[in-house]
Amino acid sequence: MTTTSTPLAGAEFWKDETKGLAEPNASESLTLTAERSSDASLAHCWSIERWPDWREAAKQVKDYALTHLDELLTTFVEKLEAKGVKVYWAKDAEEANRIVLQIAKENNVKTVVKAKSMVSEEIALNKAFASAGIRALETDLGEYIVQLLGQRPTHIVTPATHLSAEEIGRKFAEKLGVPFTAEHEKLTMIAREKLREEFVNADMGTSGANFAIADTGSLCLVENEGNIGLSTTAPKLHVALVGIEKIIPSAKYLPLFLNMLPRMGTGQKLTSYGHIFNGPTEGRDMRVVLVDNGRTRALASKNSRAVLRCIRCGVCMTRCPVYRQVGGWAYGWVYPGPLGAALTPRLLSIQEAGKLPFASSLCGACSQICPVKIDLAHQLVRLRAEAIEARPKSTAASPLDALTWKAYSFFMKTPLRYKTMMFWIRFGARLTPYLPVRPWLLGRWTRGREVPKSPGTFRDWWKKNRGASKR
Ligand code: SF4
Repeated sequence: MTTTSTPLAGAEFWKDETKGLAEPNASESLTLTAERSSDASLAHCWSIERWPDWREAAKQVKDYALTHLDELLTTFVEKLEAKGVKVYWAKDAEEANRIVLQIAKENNVKTVVKAKSMVSEEIALNKAFASAGIRALETDLGEYIVQLLGQRPTHIVTPATHLSAEEIGRKFAEKLGVPFTAEHEKLTMIAREKLREEFVNADMGTSGANFAIADTGSLCLVENEGNIGLSTTAPKLHVALVGIEKIIPSAKYLPLFLNMLPRMGTGQKLTSYGHIFNGPTEGRDMRVVLVDNGRTRALASKNSRAVLRCIRCGVCMTRCPVYRQVGGWAYGWVYPGPLGAALTPRLLSIQEAGKLPFASSLCGACSQICPVKIDLAHQLVRLRAEAIEARPKSTAASPLDALTWKAYSFFMKTPLRYKTMMFWIRFGARLTPYLPVRPWLLGRWTRGREVPKSPGTFRDWWKKNRGASKR
């Protein structure tokens, strides 16, 4: 197994691709769908009496897999190879892209249909395909929409969650030349019709994997739309990109995870489809690329290893009060929300992604809901400490931070100073919407959201409510 890894290719890739932040109703749509989805997930956990046991079992299985990864990966690869699957090891994003492009070149691939895969986002595979002159089309409906708009996914499970049906209808009419509709079924049929011929004509299909089963040498993928089934079977060549942490020891644990993942991810009891790949069928070719890209580094300690338990359900994002307001792009990395804040600095380094752990209120909602019991809030606290240790490169100790804390300390020292500070904050918040130019951070912060109304001081609240209770 490799011991080194280069940064996510996502860094540069994301910088110029956050224009979805400017979607007029992004914040509203995001909050609505996030609330709906996480309420459904919560209802499912509460309805299962033994949910705490399920979580504990899932945690233990993943912990076992992570501490026996070398053995399990060896078994997995042996079983796959025995079935005629060619397996590759990629230590980082660059190598993973190089391998996929080499496979494409050897097979004279001109067009690719892609099933949803976060690893492919992580390694910026679409950019690699584009640079090699290969046409790659996302086939998951949400991914298809964001690709059509030149945006990136804002959520790891529901990539276009920031757009309402009306907005998607308008974009389809504009980009695809179809009549406007806001009906979900009609929108789906439009995408389906456009994608059908792509499946038939593609030279290669790519996918990720939800679970890699060591004892059978199988890949398990779940979905609701059928596009994974088509992307992986319509073209003659299927290339699966699999993060090495996706291993589970045995197929006997699969029912547990197949029950948990959709309940958390989309609030369903089960997904519409579940696929288990056991090697290529006759006349077809299947390749598996095992991607490290920083995972081996994260395995090094018990604390950092915990985040690799993640099964990418995305529920920590929809529960997160910060994510619900800012969406995925505001984090600036491929994996957003609490998971991204805890995972990205582990995959990259604290120097490069040391800001992320600070993008949290530490309310703990993510830790409470995570089906594999990753204590994300404490992970973030630990990462904050590491970011401060890693000064001066980390932004935790930037001159701006130091100045902010000095000013805070000054104003908190006497009631008069505190009242003065609150007066100016309220005045500034009221004034901001009317400013013709919003410079620097203020401009960036207000690009995709409104300035909230100041709730007033605790003293104001006390005066008002105490007065009310006396009446
Ligand atoms: S960290 Fe937990 S809640 Fe968040 S995506 Fe991963 S498994 Fe789901």
